[in-house]
Amino acid sequence: MKKVIGFTTTIPVEVLFAGEYEPCDLNNVFITDVDSLRYISRAEQDGFPKNMCNWVKGIYGVVMEKHIETVITVMEGDCSNTRALAEILSYKGVTIIPFSYPYDRDKSILKREIEKLMKALSVDEKQVFAIDRKMLHVRAMLEKIDIMTWKEKMVTGYENHLWLIRSSDMLGDFVNYGTMCENFIKGLMKRDAIKGIPIGYIGVPPMVSDLYEFIESLNAHVVYNETQRQFSLPFLSRGIVERYLAYTYPYGIFVRLKDIQQEVKRRNIRGLIHYVQAFCYRSIEDVILRKLTGVPVLTIEGDLPKPLDGRTKMRIEAFIEVLKHNKEKDL
Ligand code: SF4
Repeated sequence: MKKVIGFTTTIPVEVLFAGEYEPCDLNNVFITDVDSLRYISRAEQDGFPKNMCNWVKGIYGVVMEKHIETVITVMEGDCSNTRALAEILSYKGVTIIPFSYPYDRDKSILKREIEKLMKALSVDEKQVFAIDRKMLHVRAMLEKIDIMTWKEKMVTGYENHLWLIRSSDMLGDFVNYGTMCENFIKGLMKRDAIKGIPIGYIGVPPMVSDLYEFIESLNAHVVYNETQRQFSLPFLSRGIVERYLAYTYPYGIFVRLKDIQQEVKRRNIRGLIHYVQAFCYRSIEDVILRKLTGVPVLTIEGDLPKPLDGRTKMRIEAFIEVLKHNKEKDL
């Protein structure tokens, strides 16, 4: 049986596959569990405060409940809470492998970080290169799923979210994930195009459980999932270091903004829903996003893995109505 290595956000997963480990994105385990609240309760029982981001508590709960022995913690480029999380995990006996994305996007520093990870997992360059080439095939299929969302309009926003978000660990087996993608794409050929006003989703992945379902019920089509798409690393022609440099999520708001502006145009997006997580420092970035994306932005906040509350539903409904009205005016 392969050894499971958990991680707190997207890392160069090629290194883990090259070392024949089973990568495990702890966020995905937490949020896809039918009883994800139990991980939060576990963290709170162990002393985590109530007024803290529930993604962090969820990750901690998963490591404890699933007895994960080794975790790669992204110390820079993801979450301001990770350092404290790494410390408490280490105190609980978990082996921590730190990884950092350089804020200034310095290629030599990122290369050094990837090499450090390779050394920690006893993997050489040749092994990583071989896996990287094989994984490109899966990444290309994920890009196809994304294109089939906004261009052919055959994939729903939720399906797009699911396929791209799971690409951070490819469910622990990239070969099998590739086969799953292939079968999904084949099945799409029988579908009709989805009608509905094109909107985008930006921000950290949602914790609320029925967001896509609700948006789709209002005859809107989510054609862009910013962060989830970034997790799939759709930069196929580059080598591993360049690919993780092109990845926008760890490098600050202005790098992200450029990608958002480009995709808003390319996908003809009429408005954006910006999801912020309660107690997350990234909420401050909303100030910039609201001003510079070039389309109307609705900011919503989530806290627990639960369905949307009535007030947020009403705000989304009103926002989509305005976008539909704007569209009619433009015709
Ligand atoms: S939502 Fe914000 S605070 Fe929570 S884990 Fe993500 S980056 Fe950290």
